[in-house]
Amino acid sequence: MKCPECSLNHKRSVGMVCSCGYSFVFCPKSSDAVTDGKFLALINKISGNGTYYFTPLQFHLQYCTKKYKEMKTQQNTGIGCFLFIAVVVFFASHNLTFALIPLGIAFLMAWAKKFDKPVSLKTSLGLLDKWKSNGREIDKLLEKPRLQNPPSECQEPDIYDYGVERILLVEHPILVDLFVLNNFHCHERVLILCQDGYPDYLGTQAEKSLEENPDLPVYLLHDASEEGERMNKNLETSSLPIQTHPIVDLGFFAKDIAQIKGLEFINRQYANKIPVAMLPYPILSKMLSNALNKEPGTIASSSTEPDINIGGIALAYTCLNLFDDYGSEGDDESDFG
Ligand SMILES: [Zn+2]
Repeated sequence: MKCPECSLNHKRSVGMVCSCGYSFVFCPKSSDAVTDGKFLALINKISGNGTYYFTPLQFHLQYCTKKYKEMKTQQNTGIGCFLFIAVVVFFASHNLTFALIPLGIAFLMAWAKKFDKPVSLKTSLGLLDKWKSNGREIDKLLEKPRLQNPPSECQEPDIYDYGVERILLVEHPILVDLFVLNNFHCHERVLILCQDGYPDYLGTQAEKSLEENPDLPVYLLHDASEEGERMNKNLETSSLPIQTHPIVDLGFFAKDIAQIKGLEFINRQYANKIPVAMLPYPILSKMLSNALNKEPGTIASSSTEPDINIGGIALAYTCLNLFDDYGSEGDDESDFG
């Protein structure tokens, strides 16, 4: 195990405390299946080296991606070895029957890939809990909504004093925190509110903006779940005066999510019903920013309902291939043992 403090290679057999005094939390030989260094590398990756807030689900996806890549590499190496052995056996013995044995094993391994199971959410959350229960902090982790009062570090009054250009209604309170604490609302001049009215301090402001500007567009962002896909319908009875405003649904839909390349392994676990709060923040914010800055009519449609403009943010996501780029960059876990 490589010590994150002094970079020394520490032998597990001499205990869980490094000679520099660092106390290890994870033991890679146990059910943890991760080292402190790899865990910290995951946290650095998902928080942009501590520059933005992230959700437990984003950590989960990052951990699953890492594990999936490791497993794929091992399988491909195994298949390559068996194919090589099959060729060597065939040329050495000119006996096809012997050569068929390793060839059969290689095909079996390739076939078994179809049944790869991703890491469970419980496992990922267990790692976060274990880290915290050992007295370690994770600065930018958003576990539950905390915006009962306005955030102090943001210049919020500016955008509300001069007027917002749009309203974004999200399905879950944690998404308000994710975007607001990462200052997305200031960059995009958007008032972000949960469909249930959270946070209270923005409800009155939203009503005021909607009443003052009858053309103010309202964007929706929801999970690709059955409940999420009903968000627009559910808002028909909303106390917010949005009914006469242009509404653009930028939410996820399972049929769109199914097309996203690079998410197949997690799609199997979630049956394509992926939560918004699972996508890495750089991807989510870029995708949302692109969608918000397009004219509503030009956003790819993924619905046949005539009276709603469906944003199809997931389709935009597919086209941009952002996930592939994000997944391949900065794989610095190898720095740790
Ligand atoms: Zn050390």
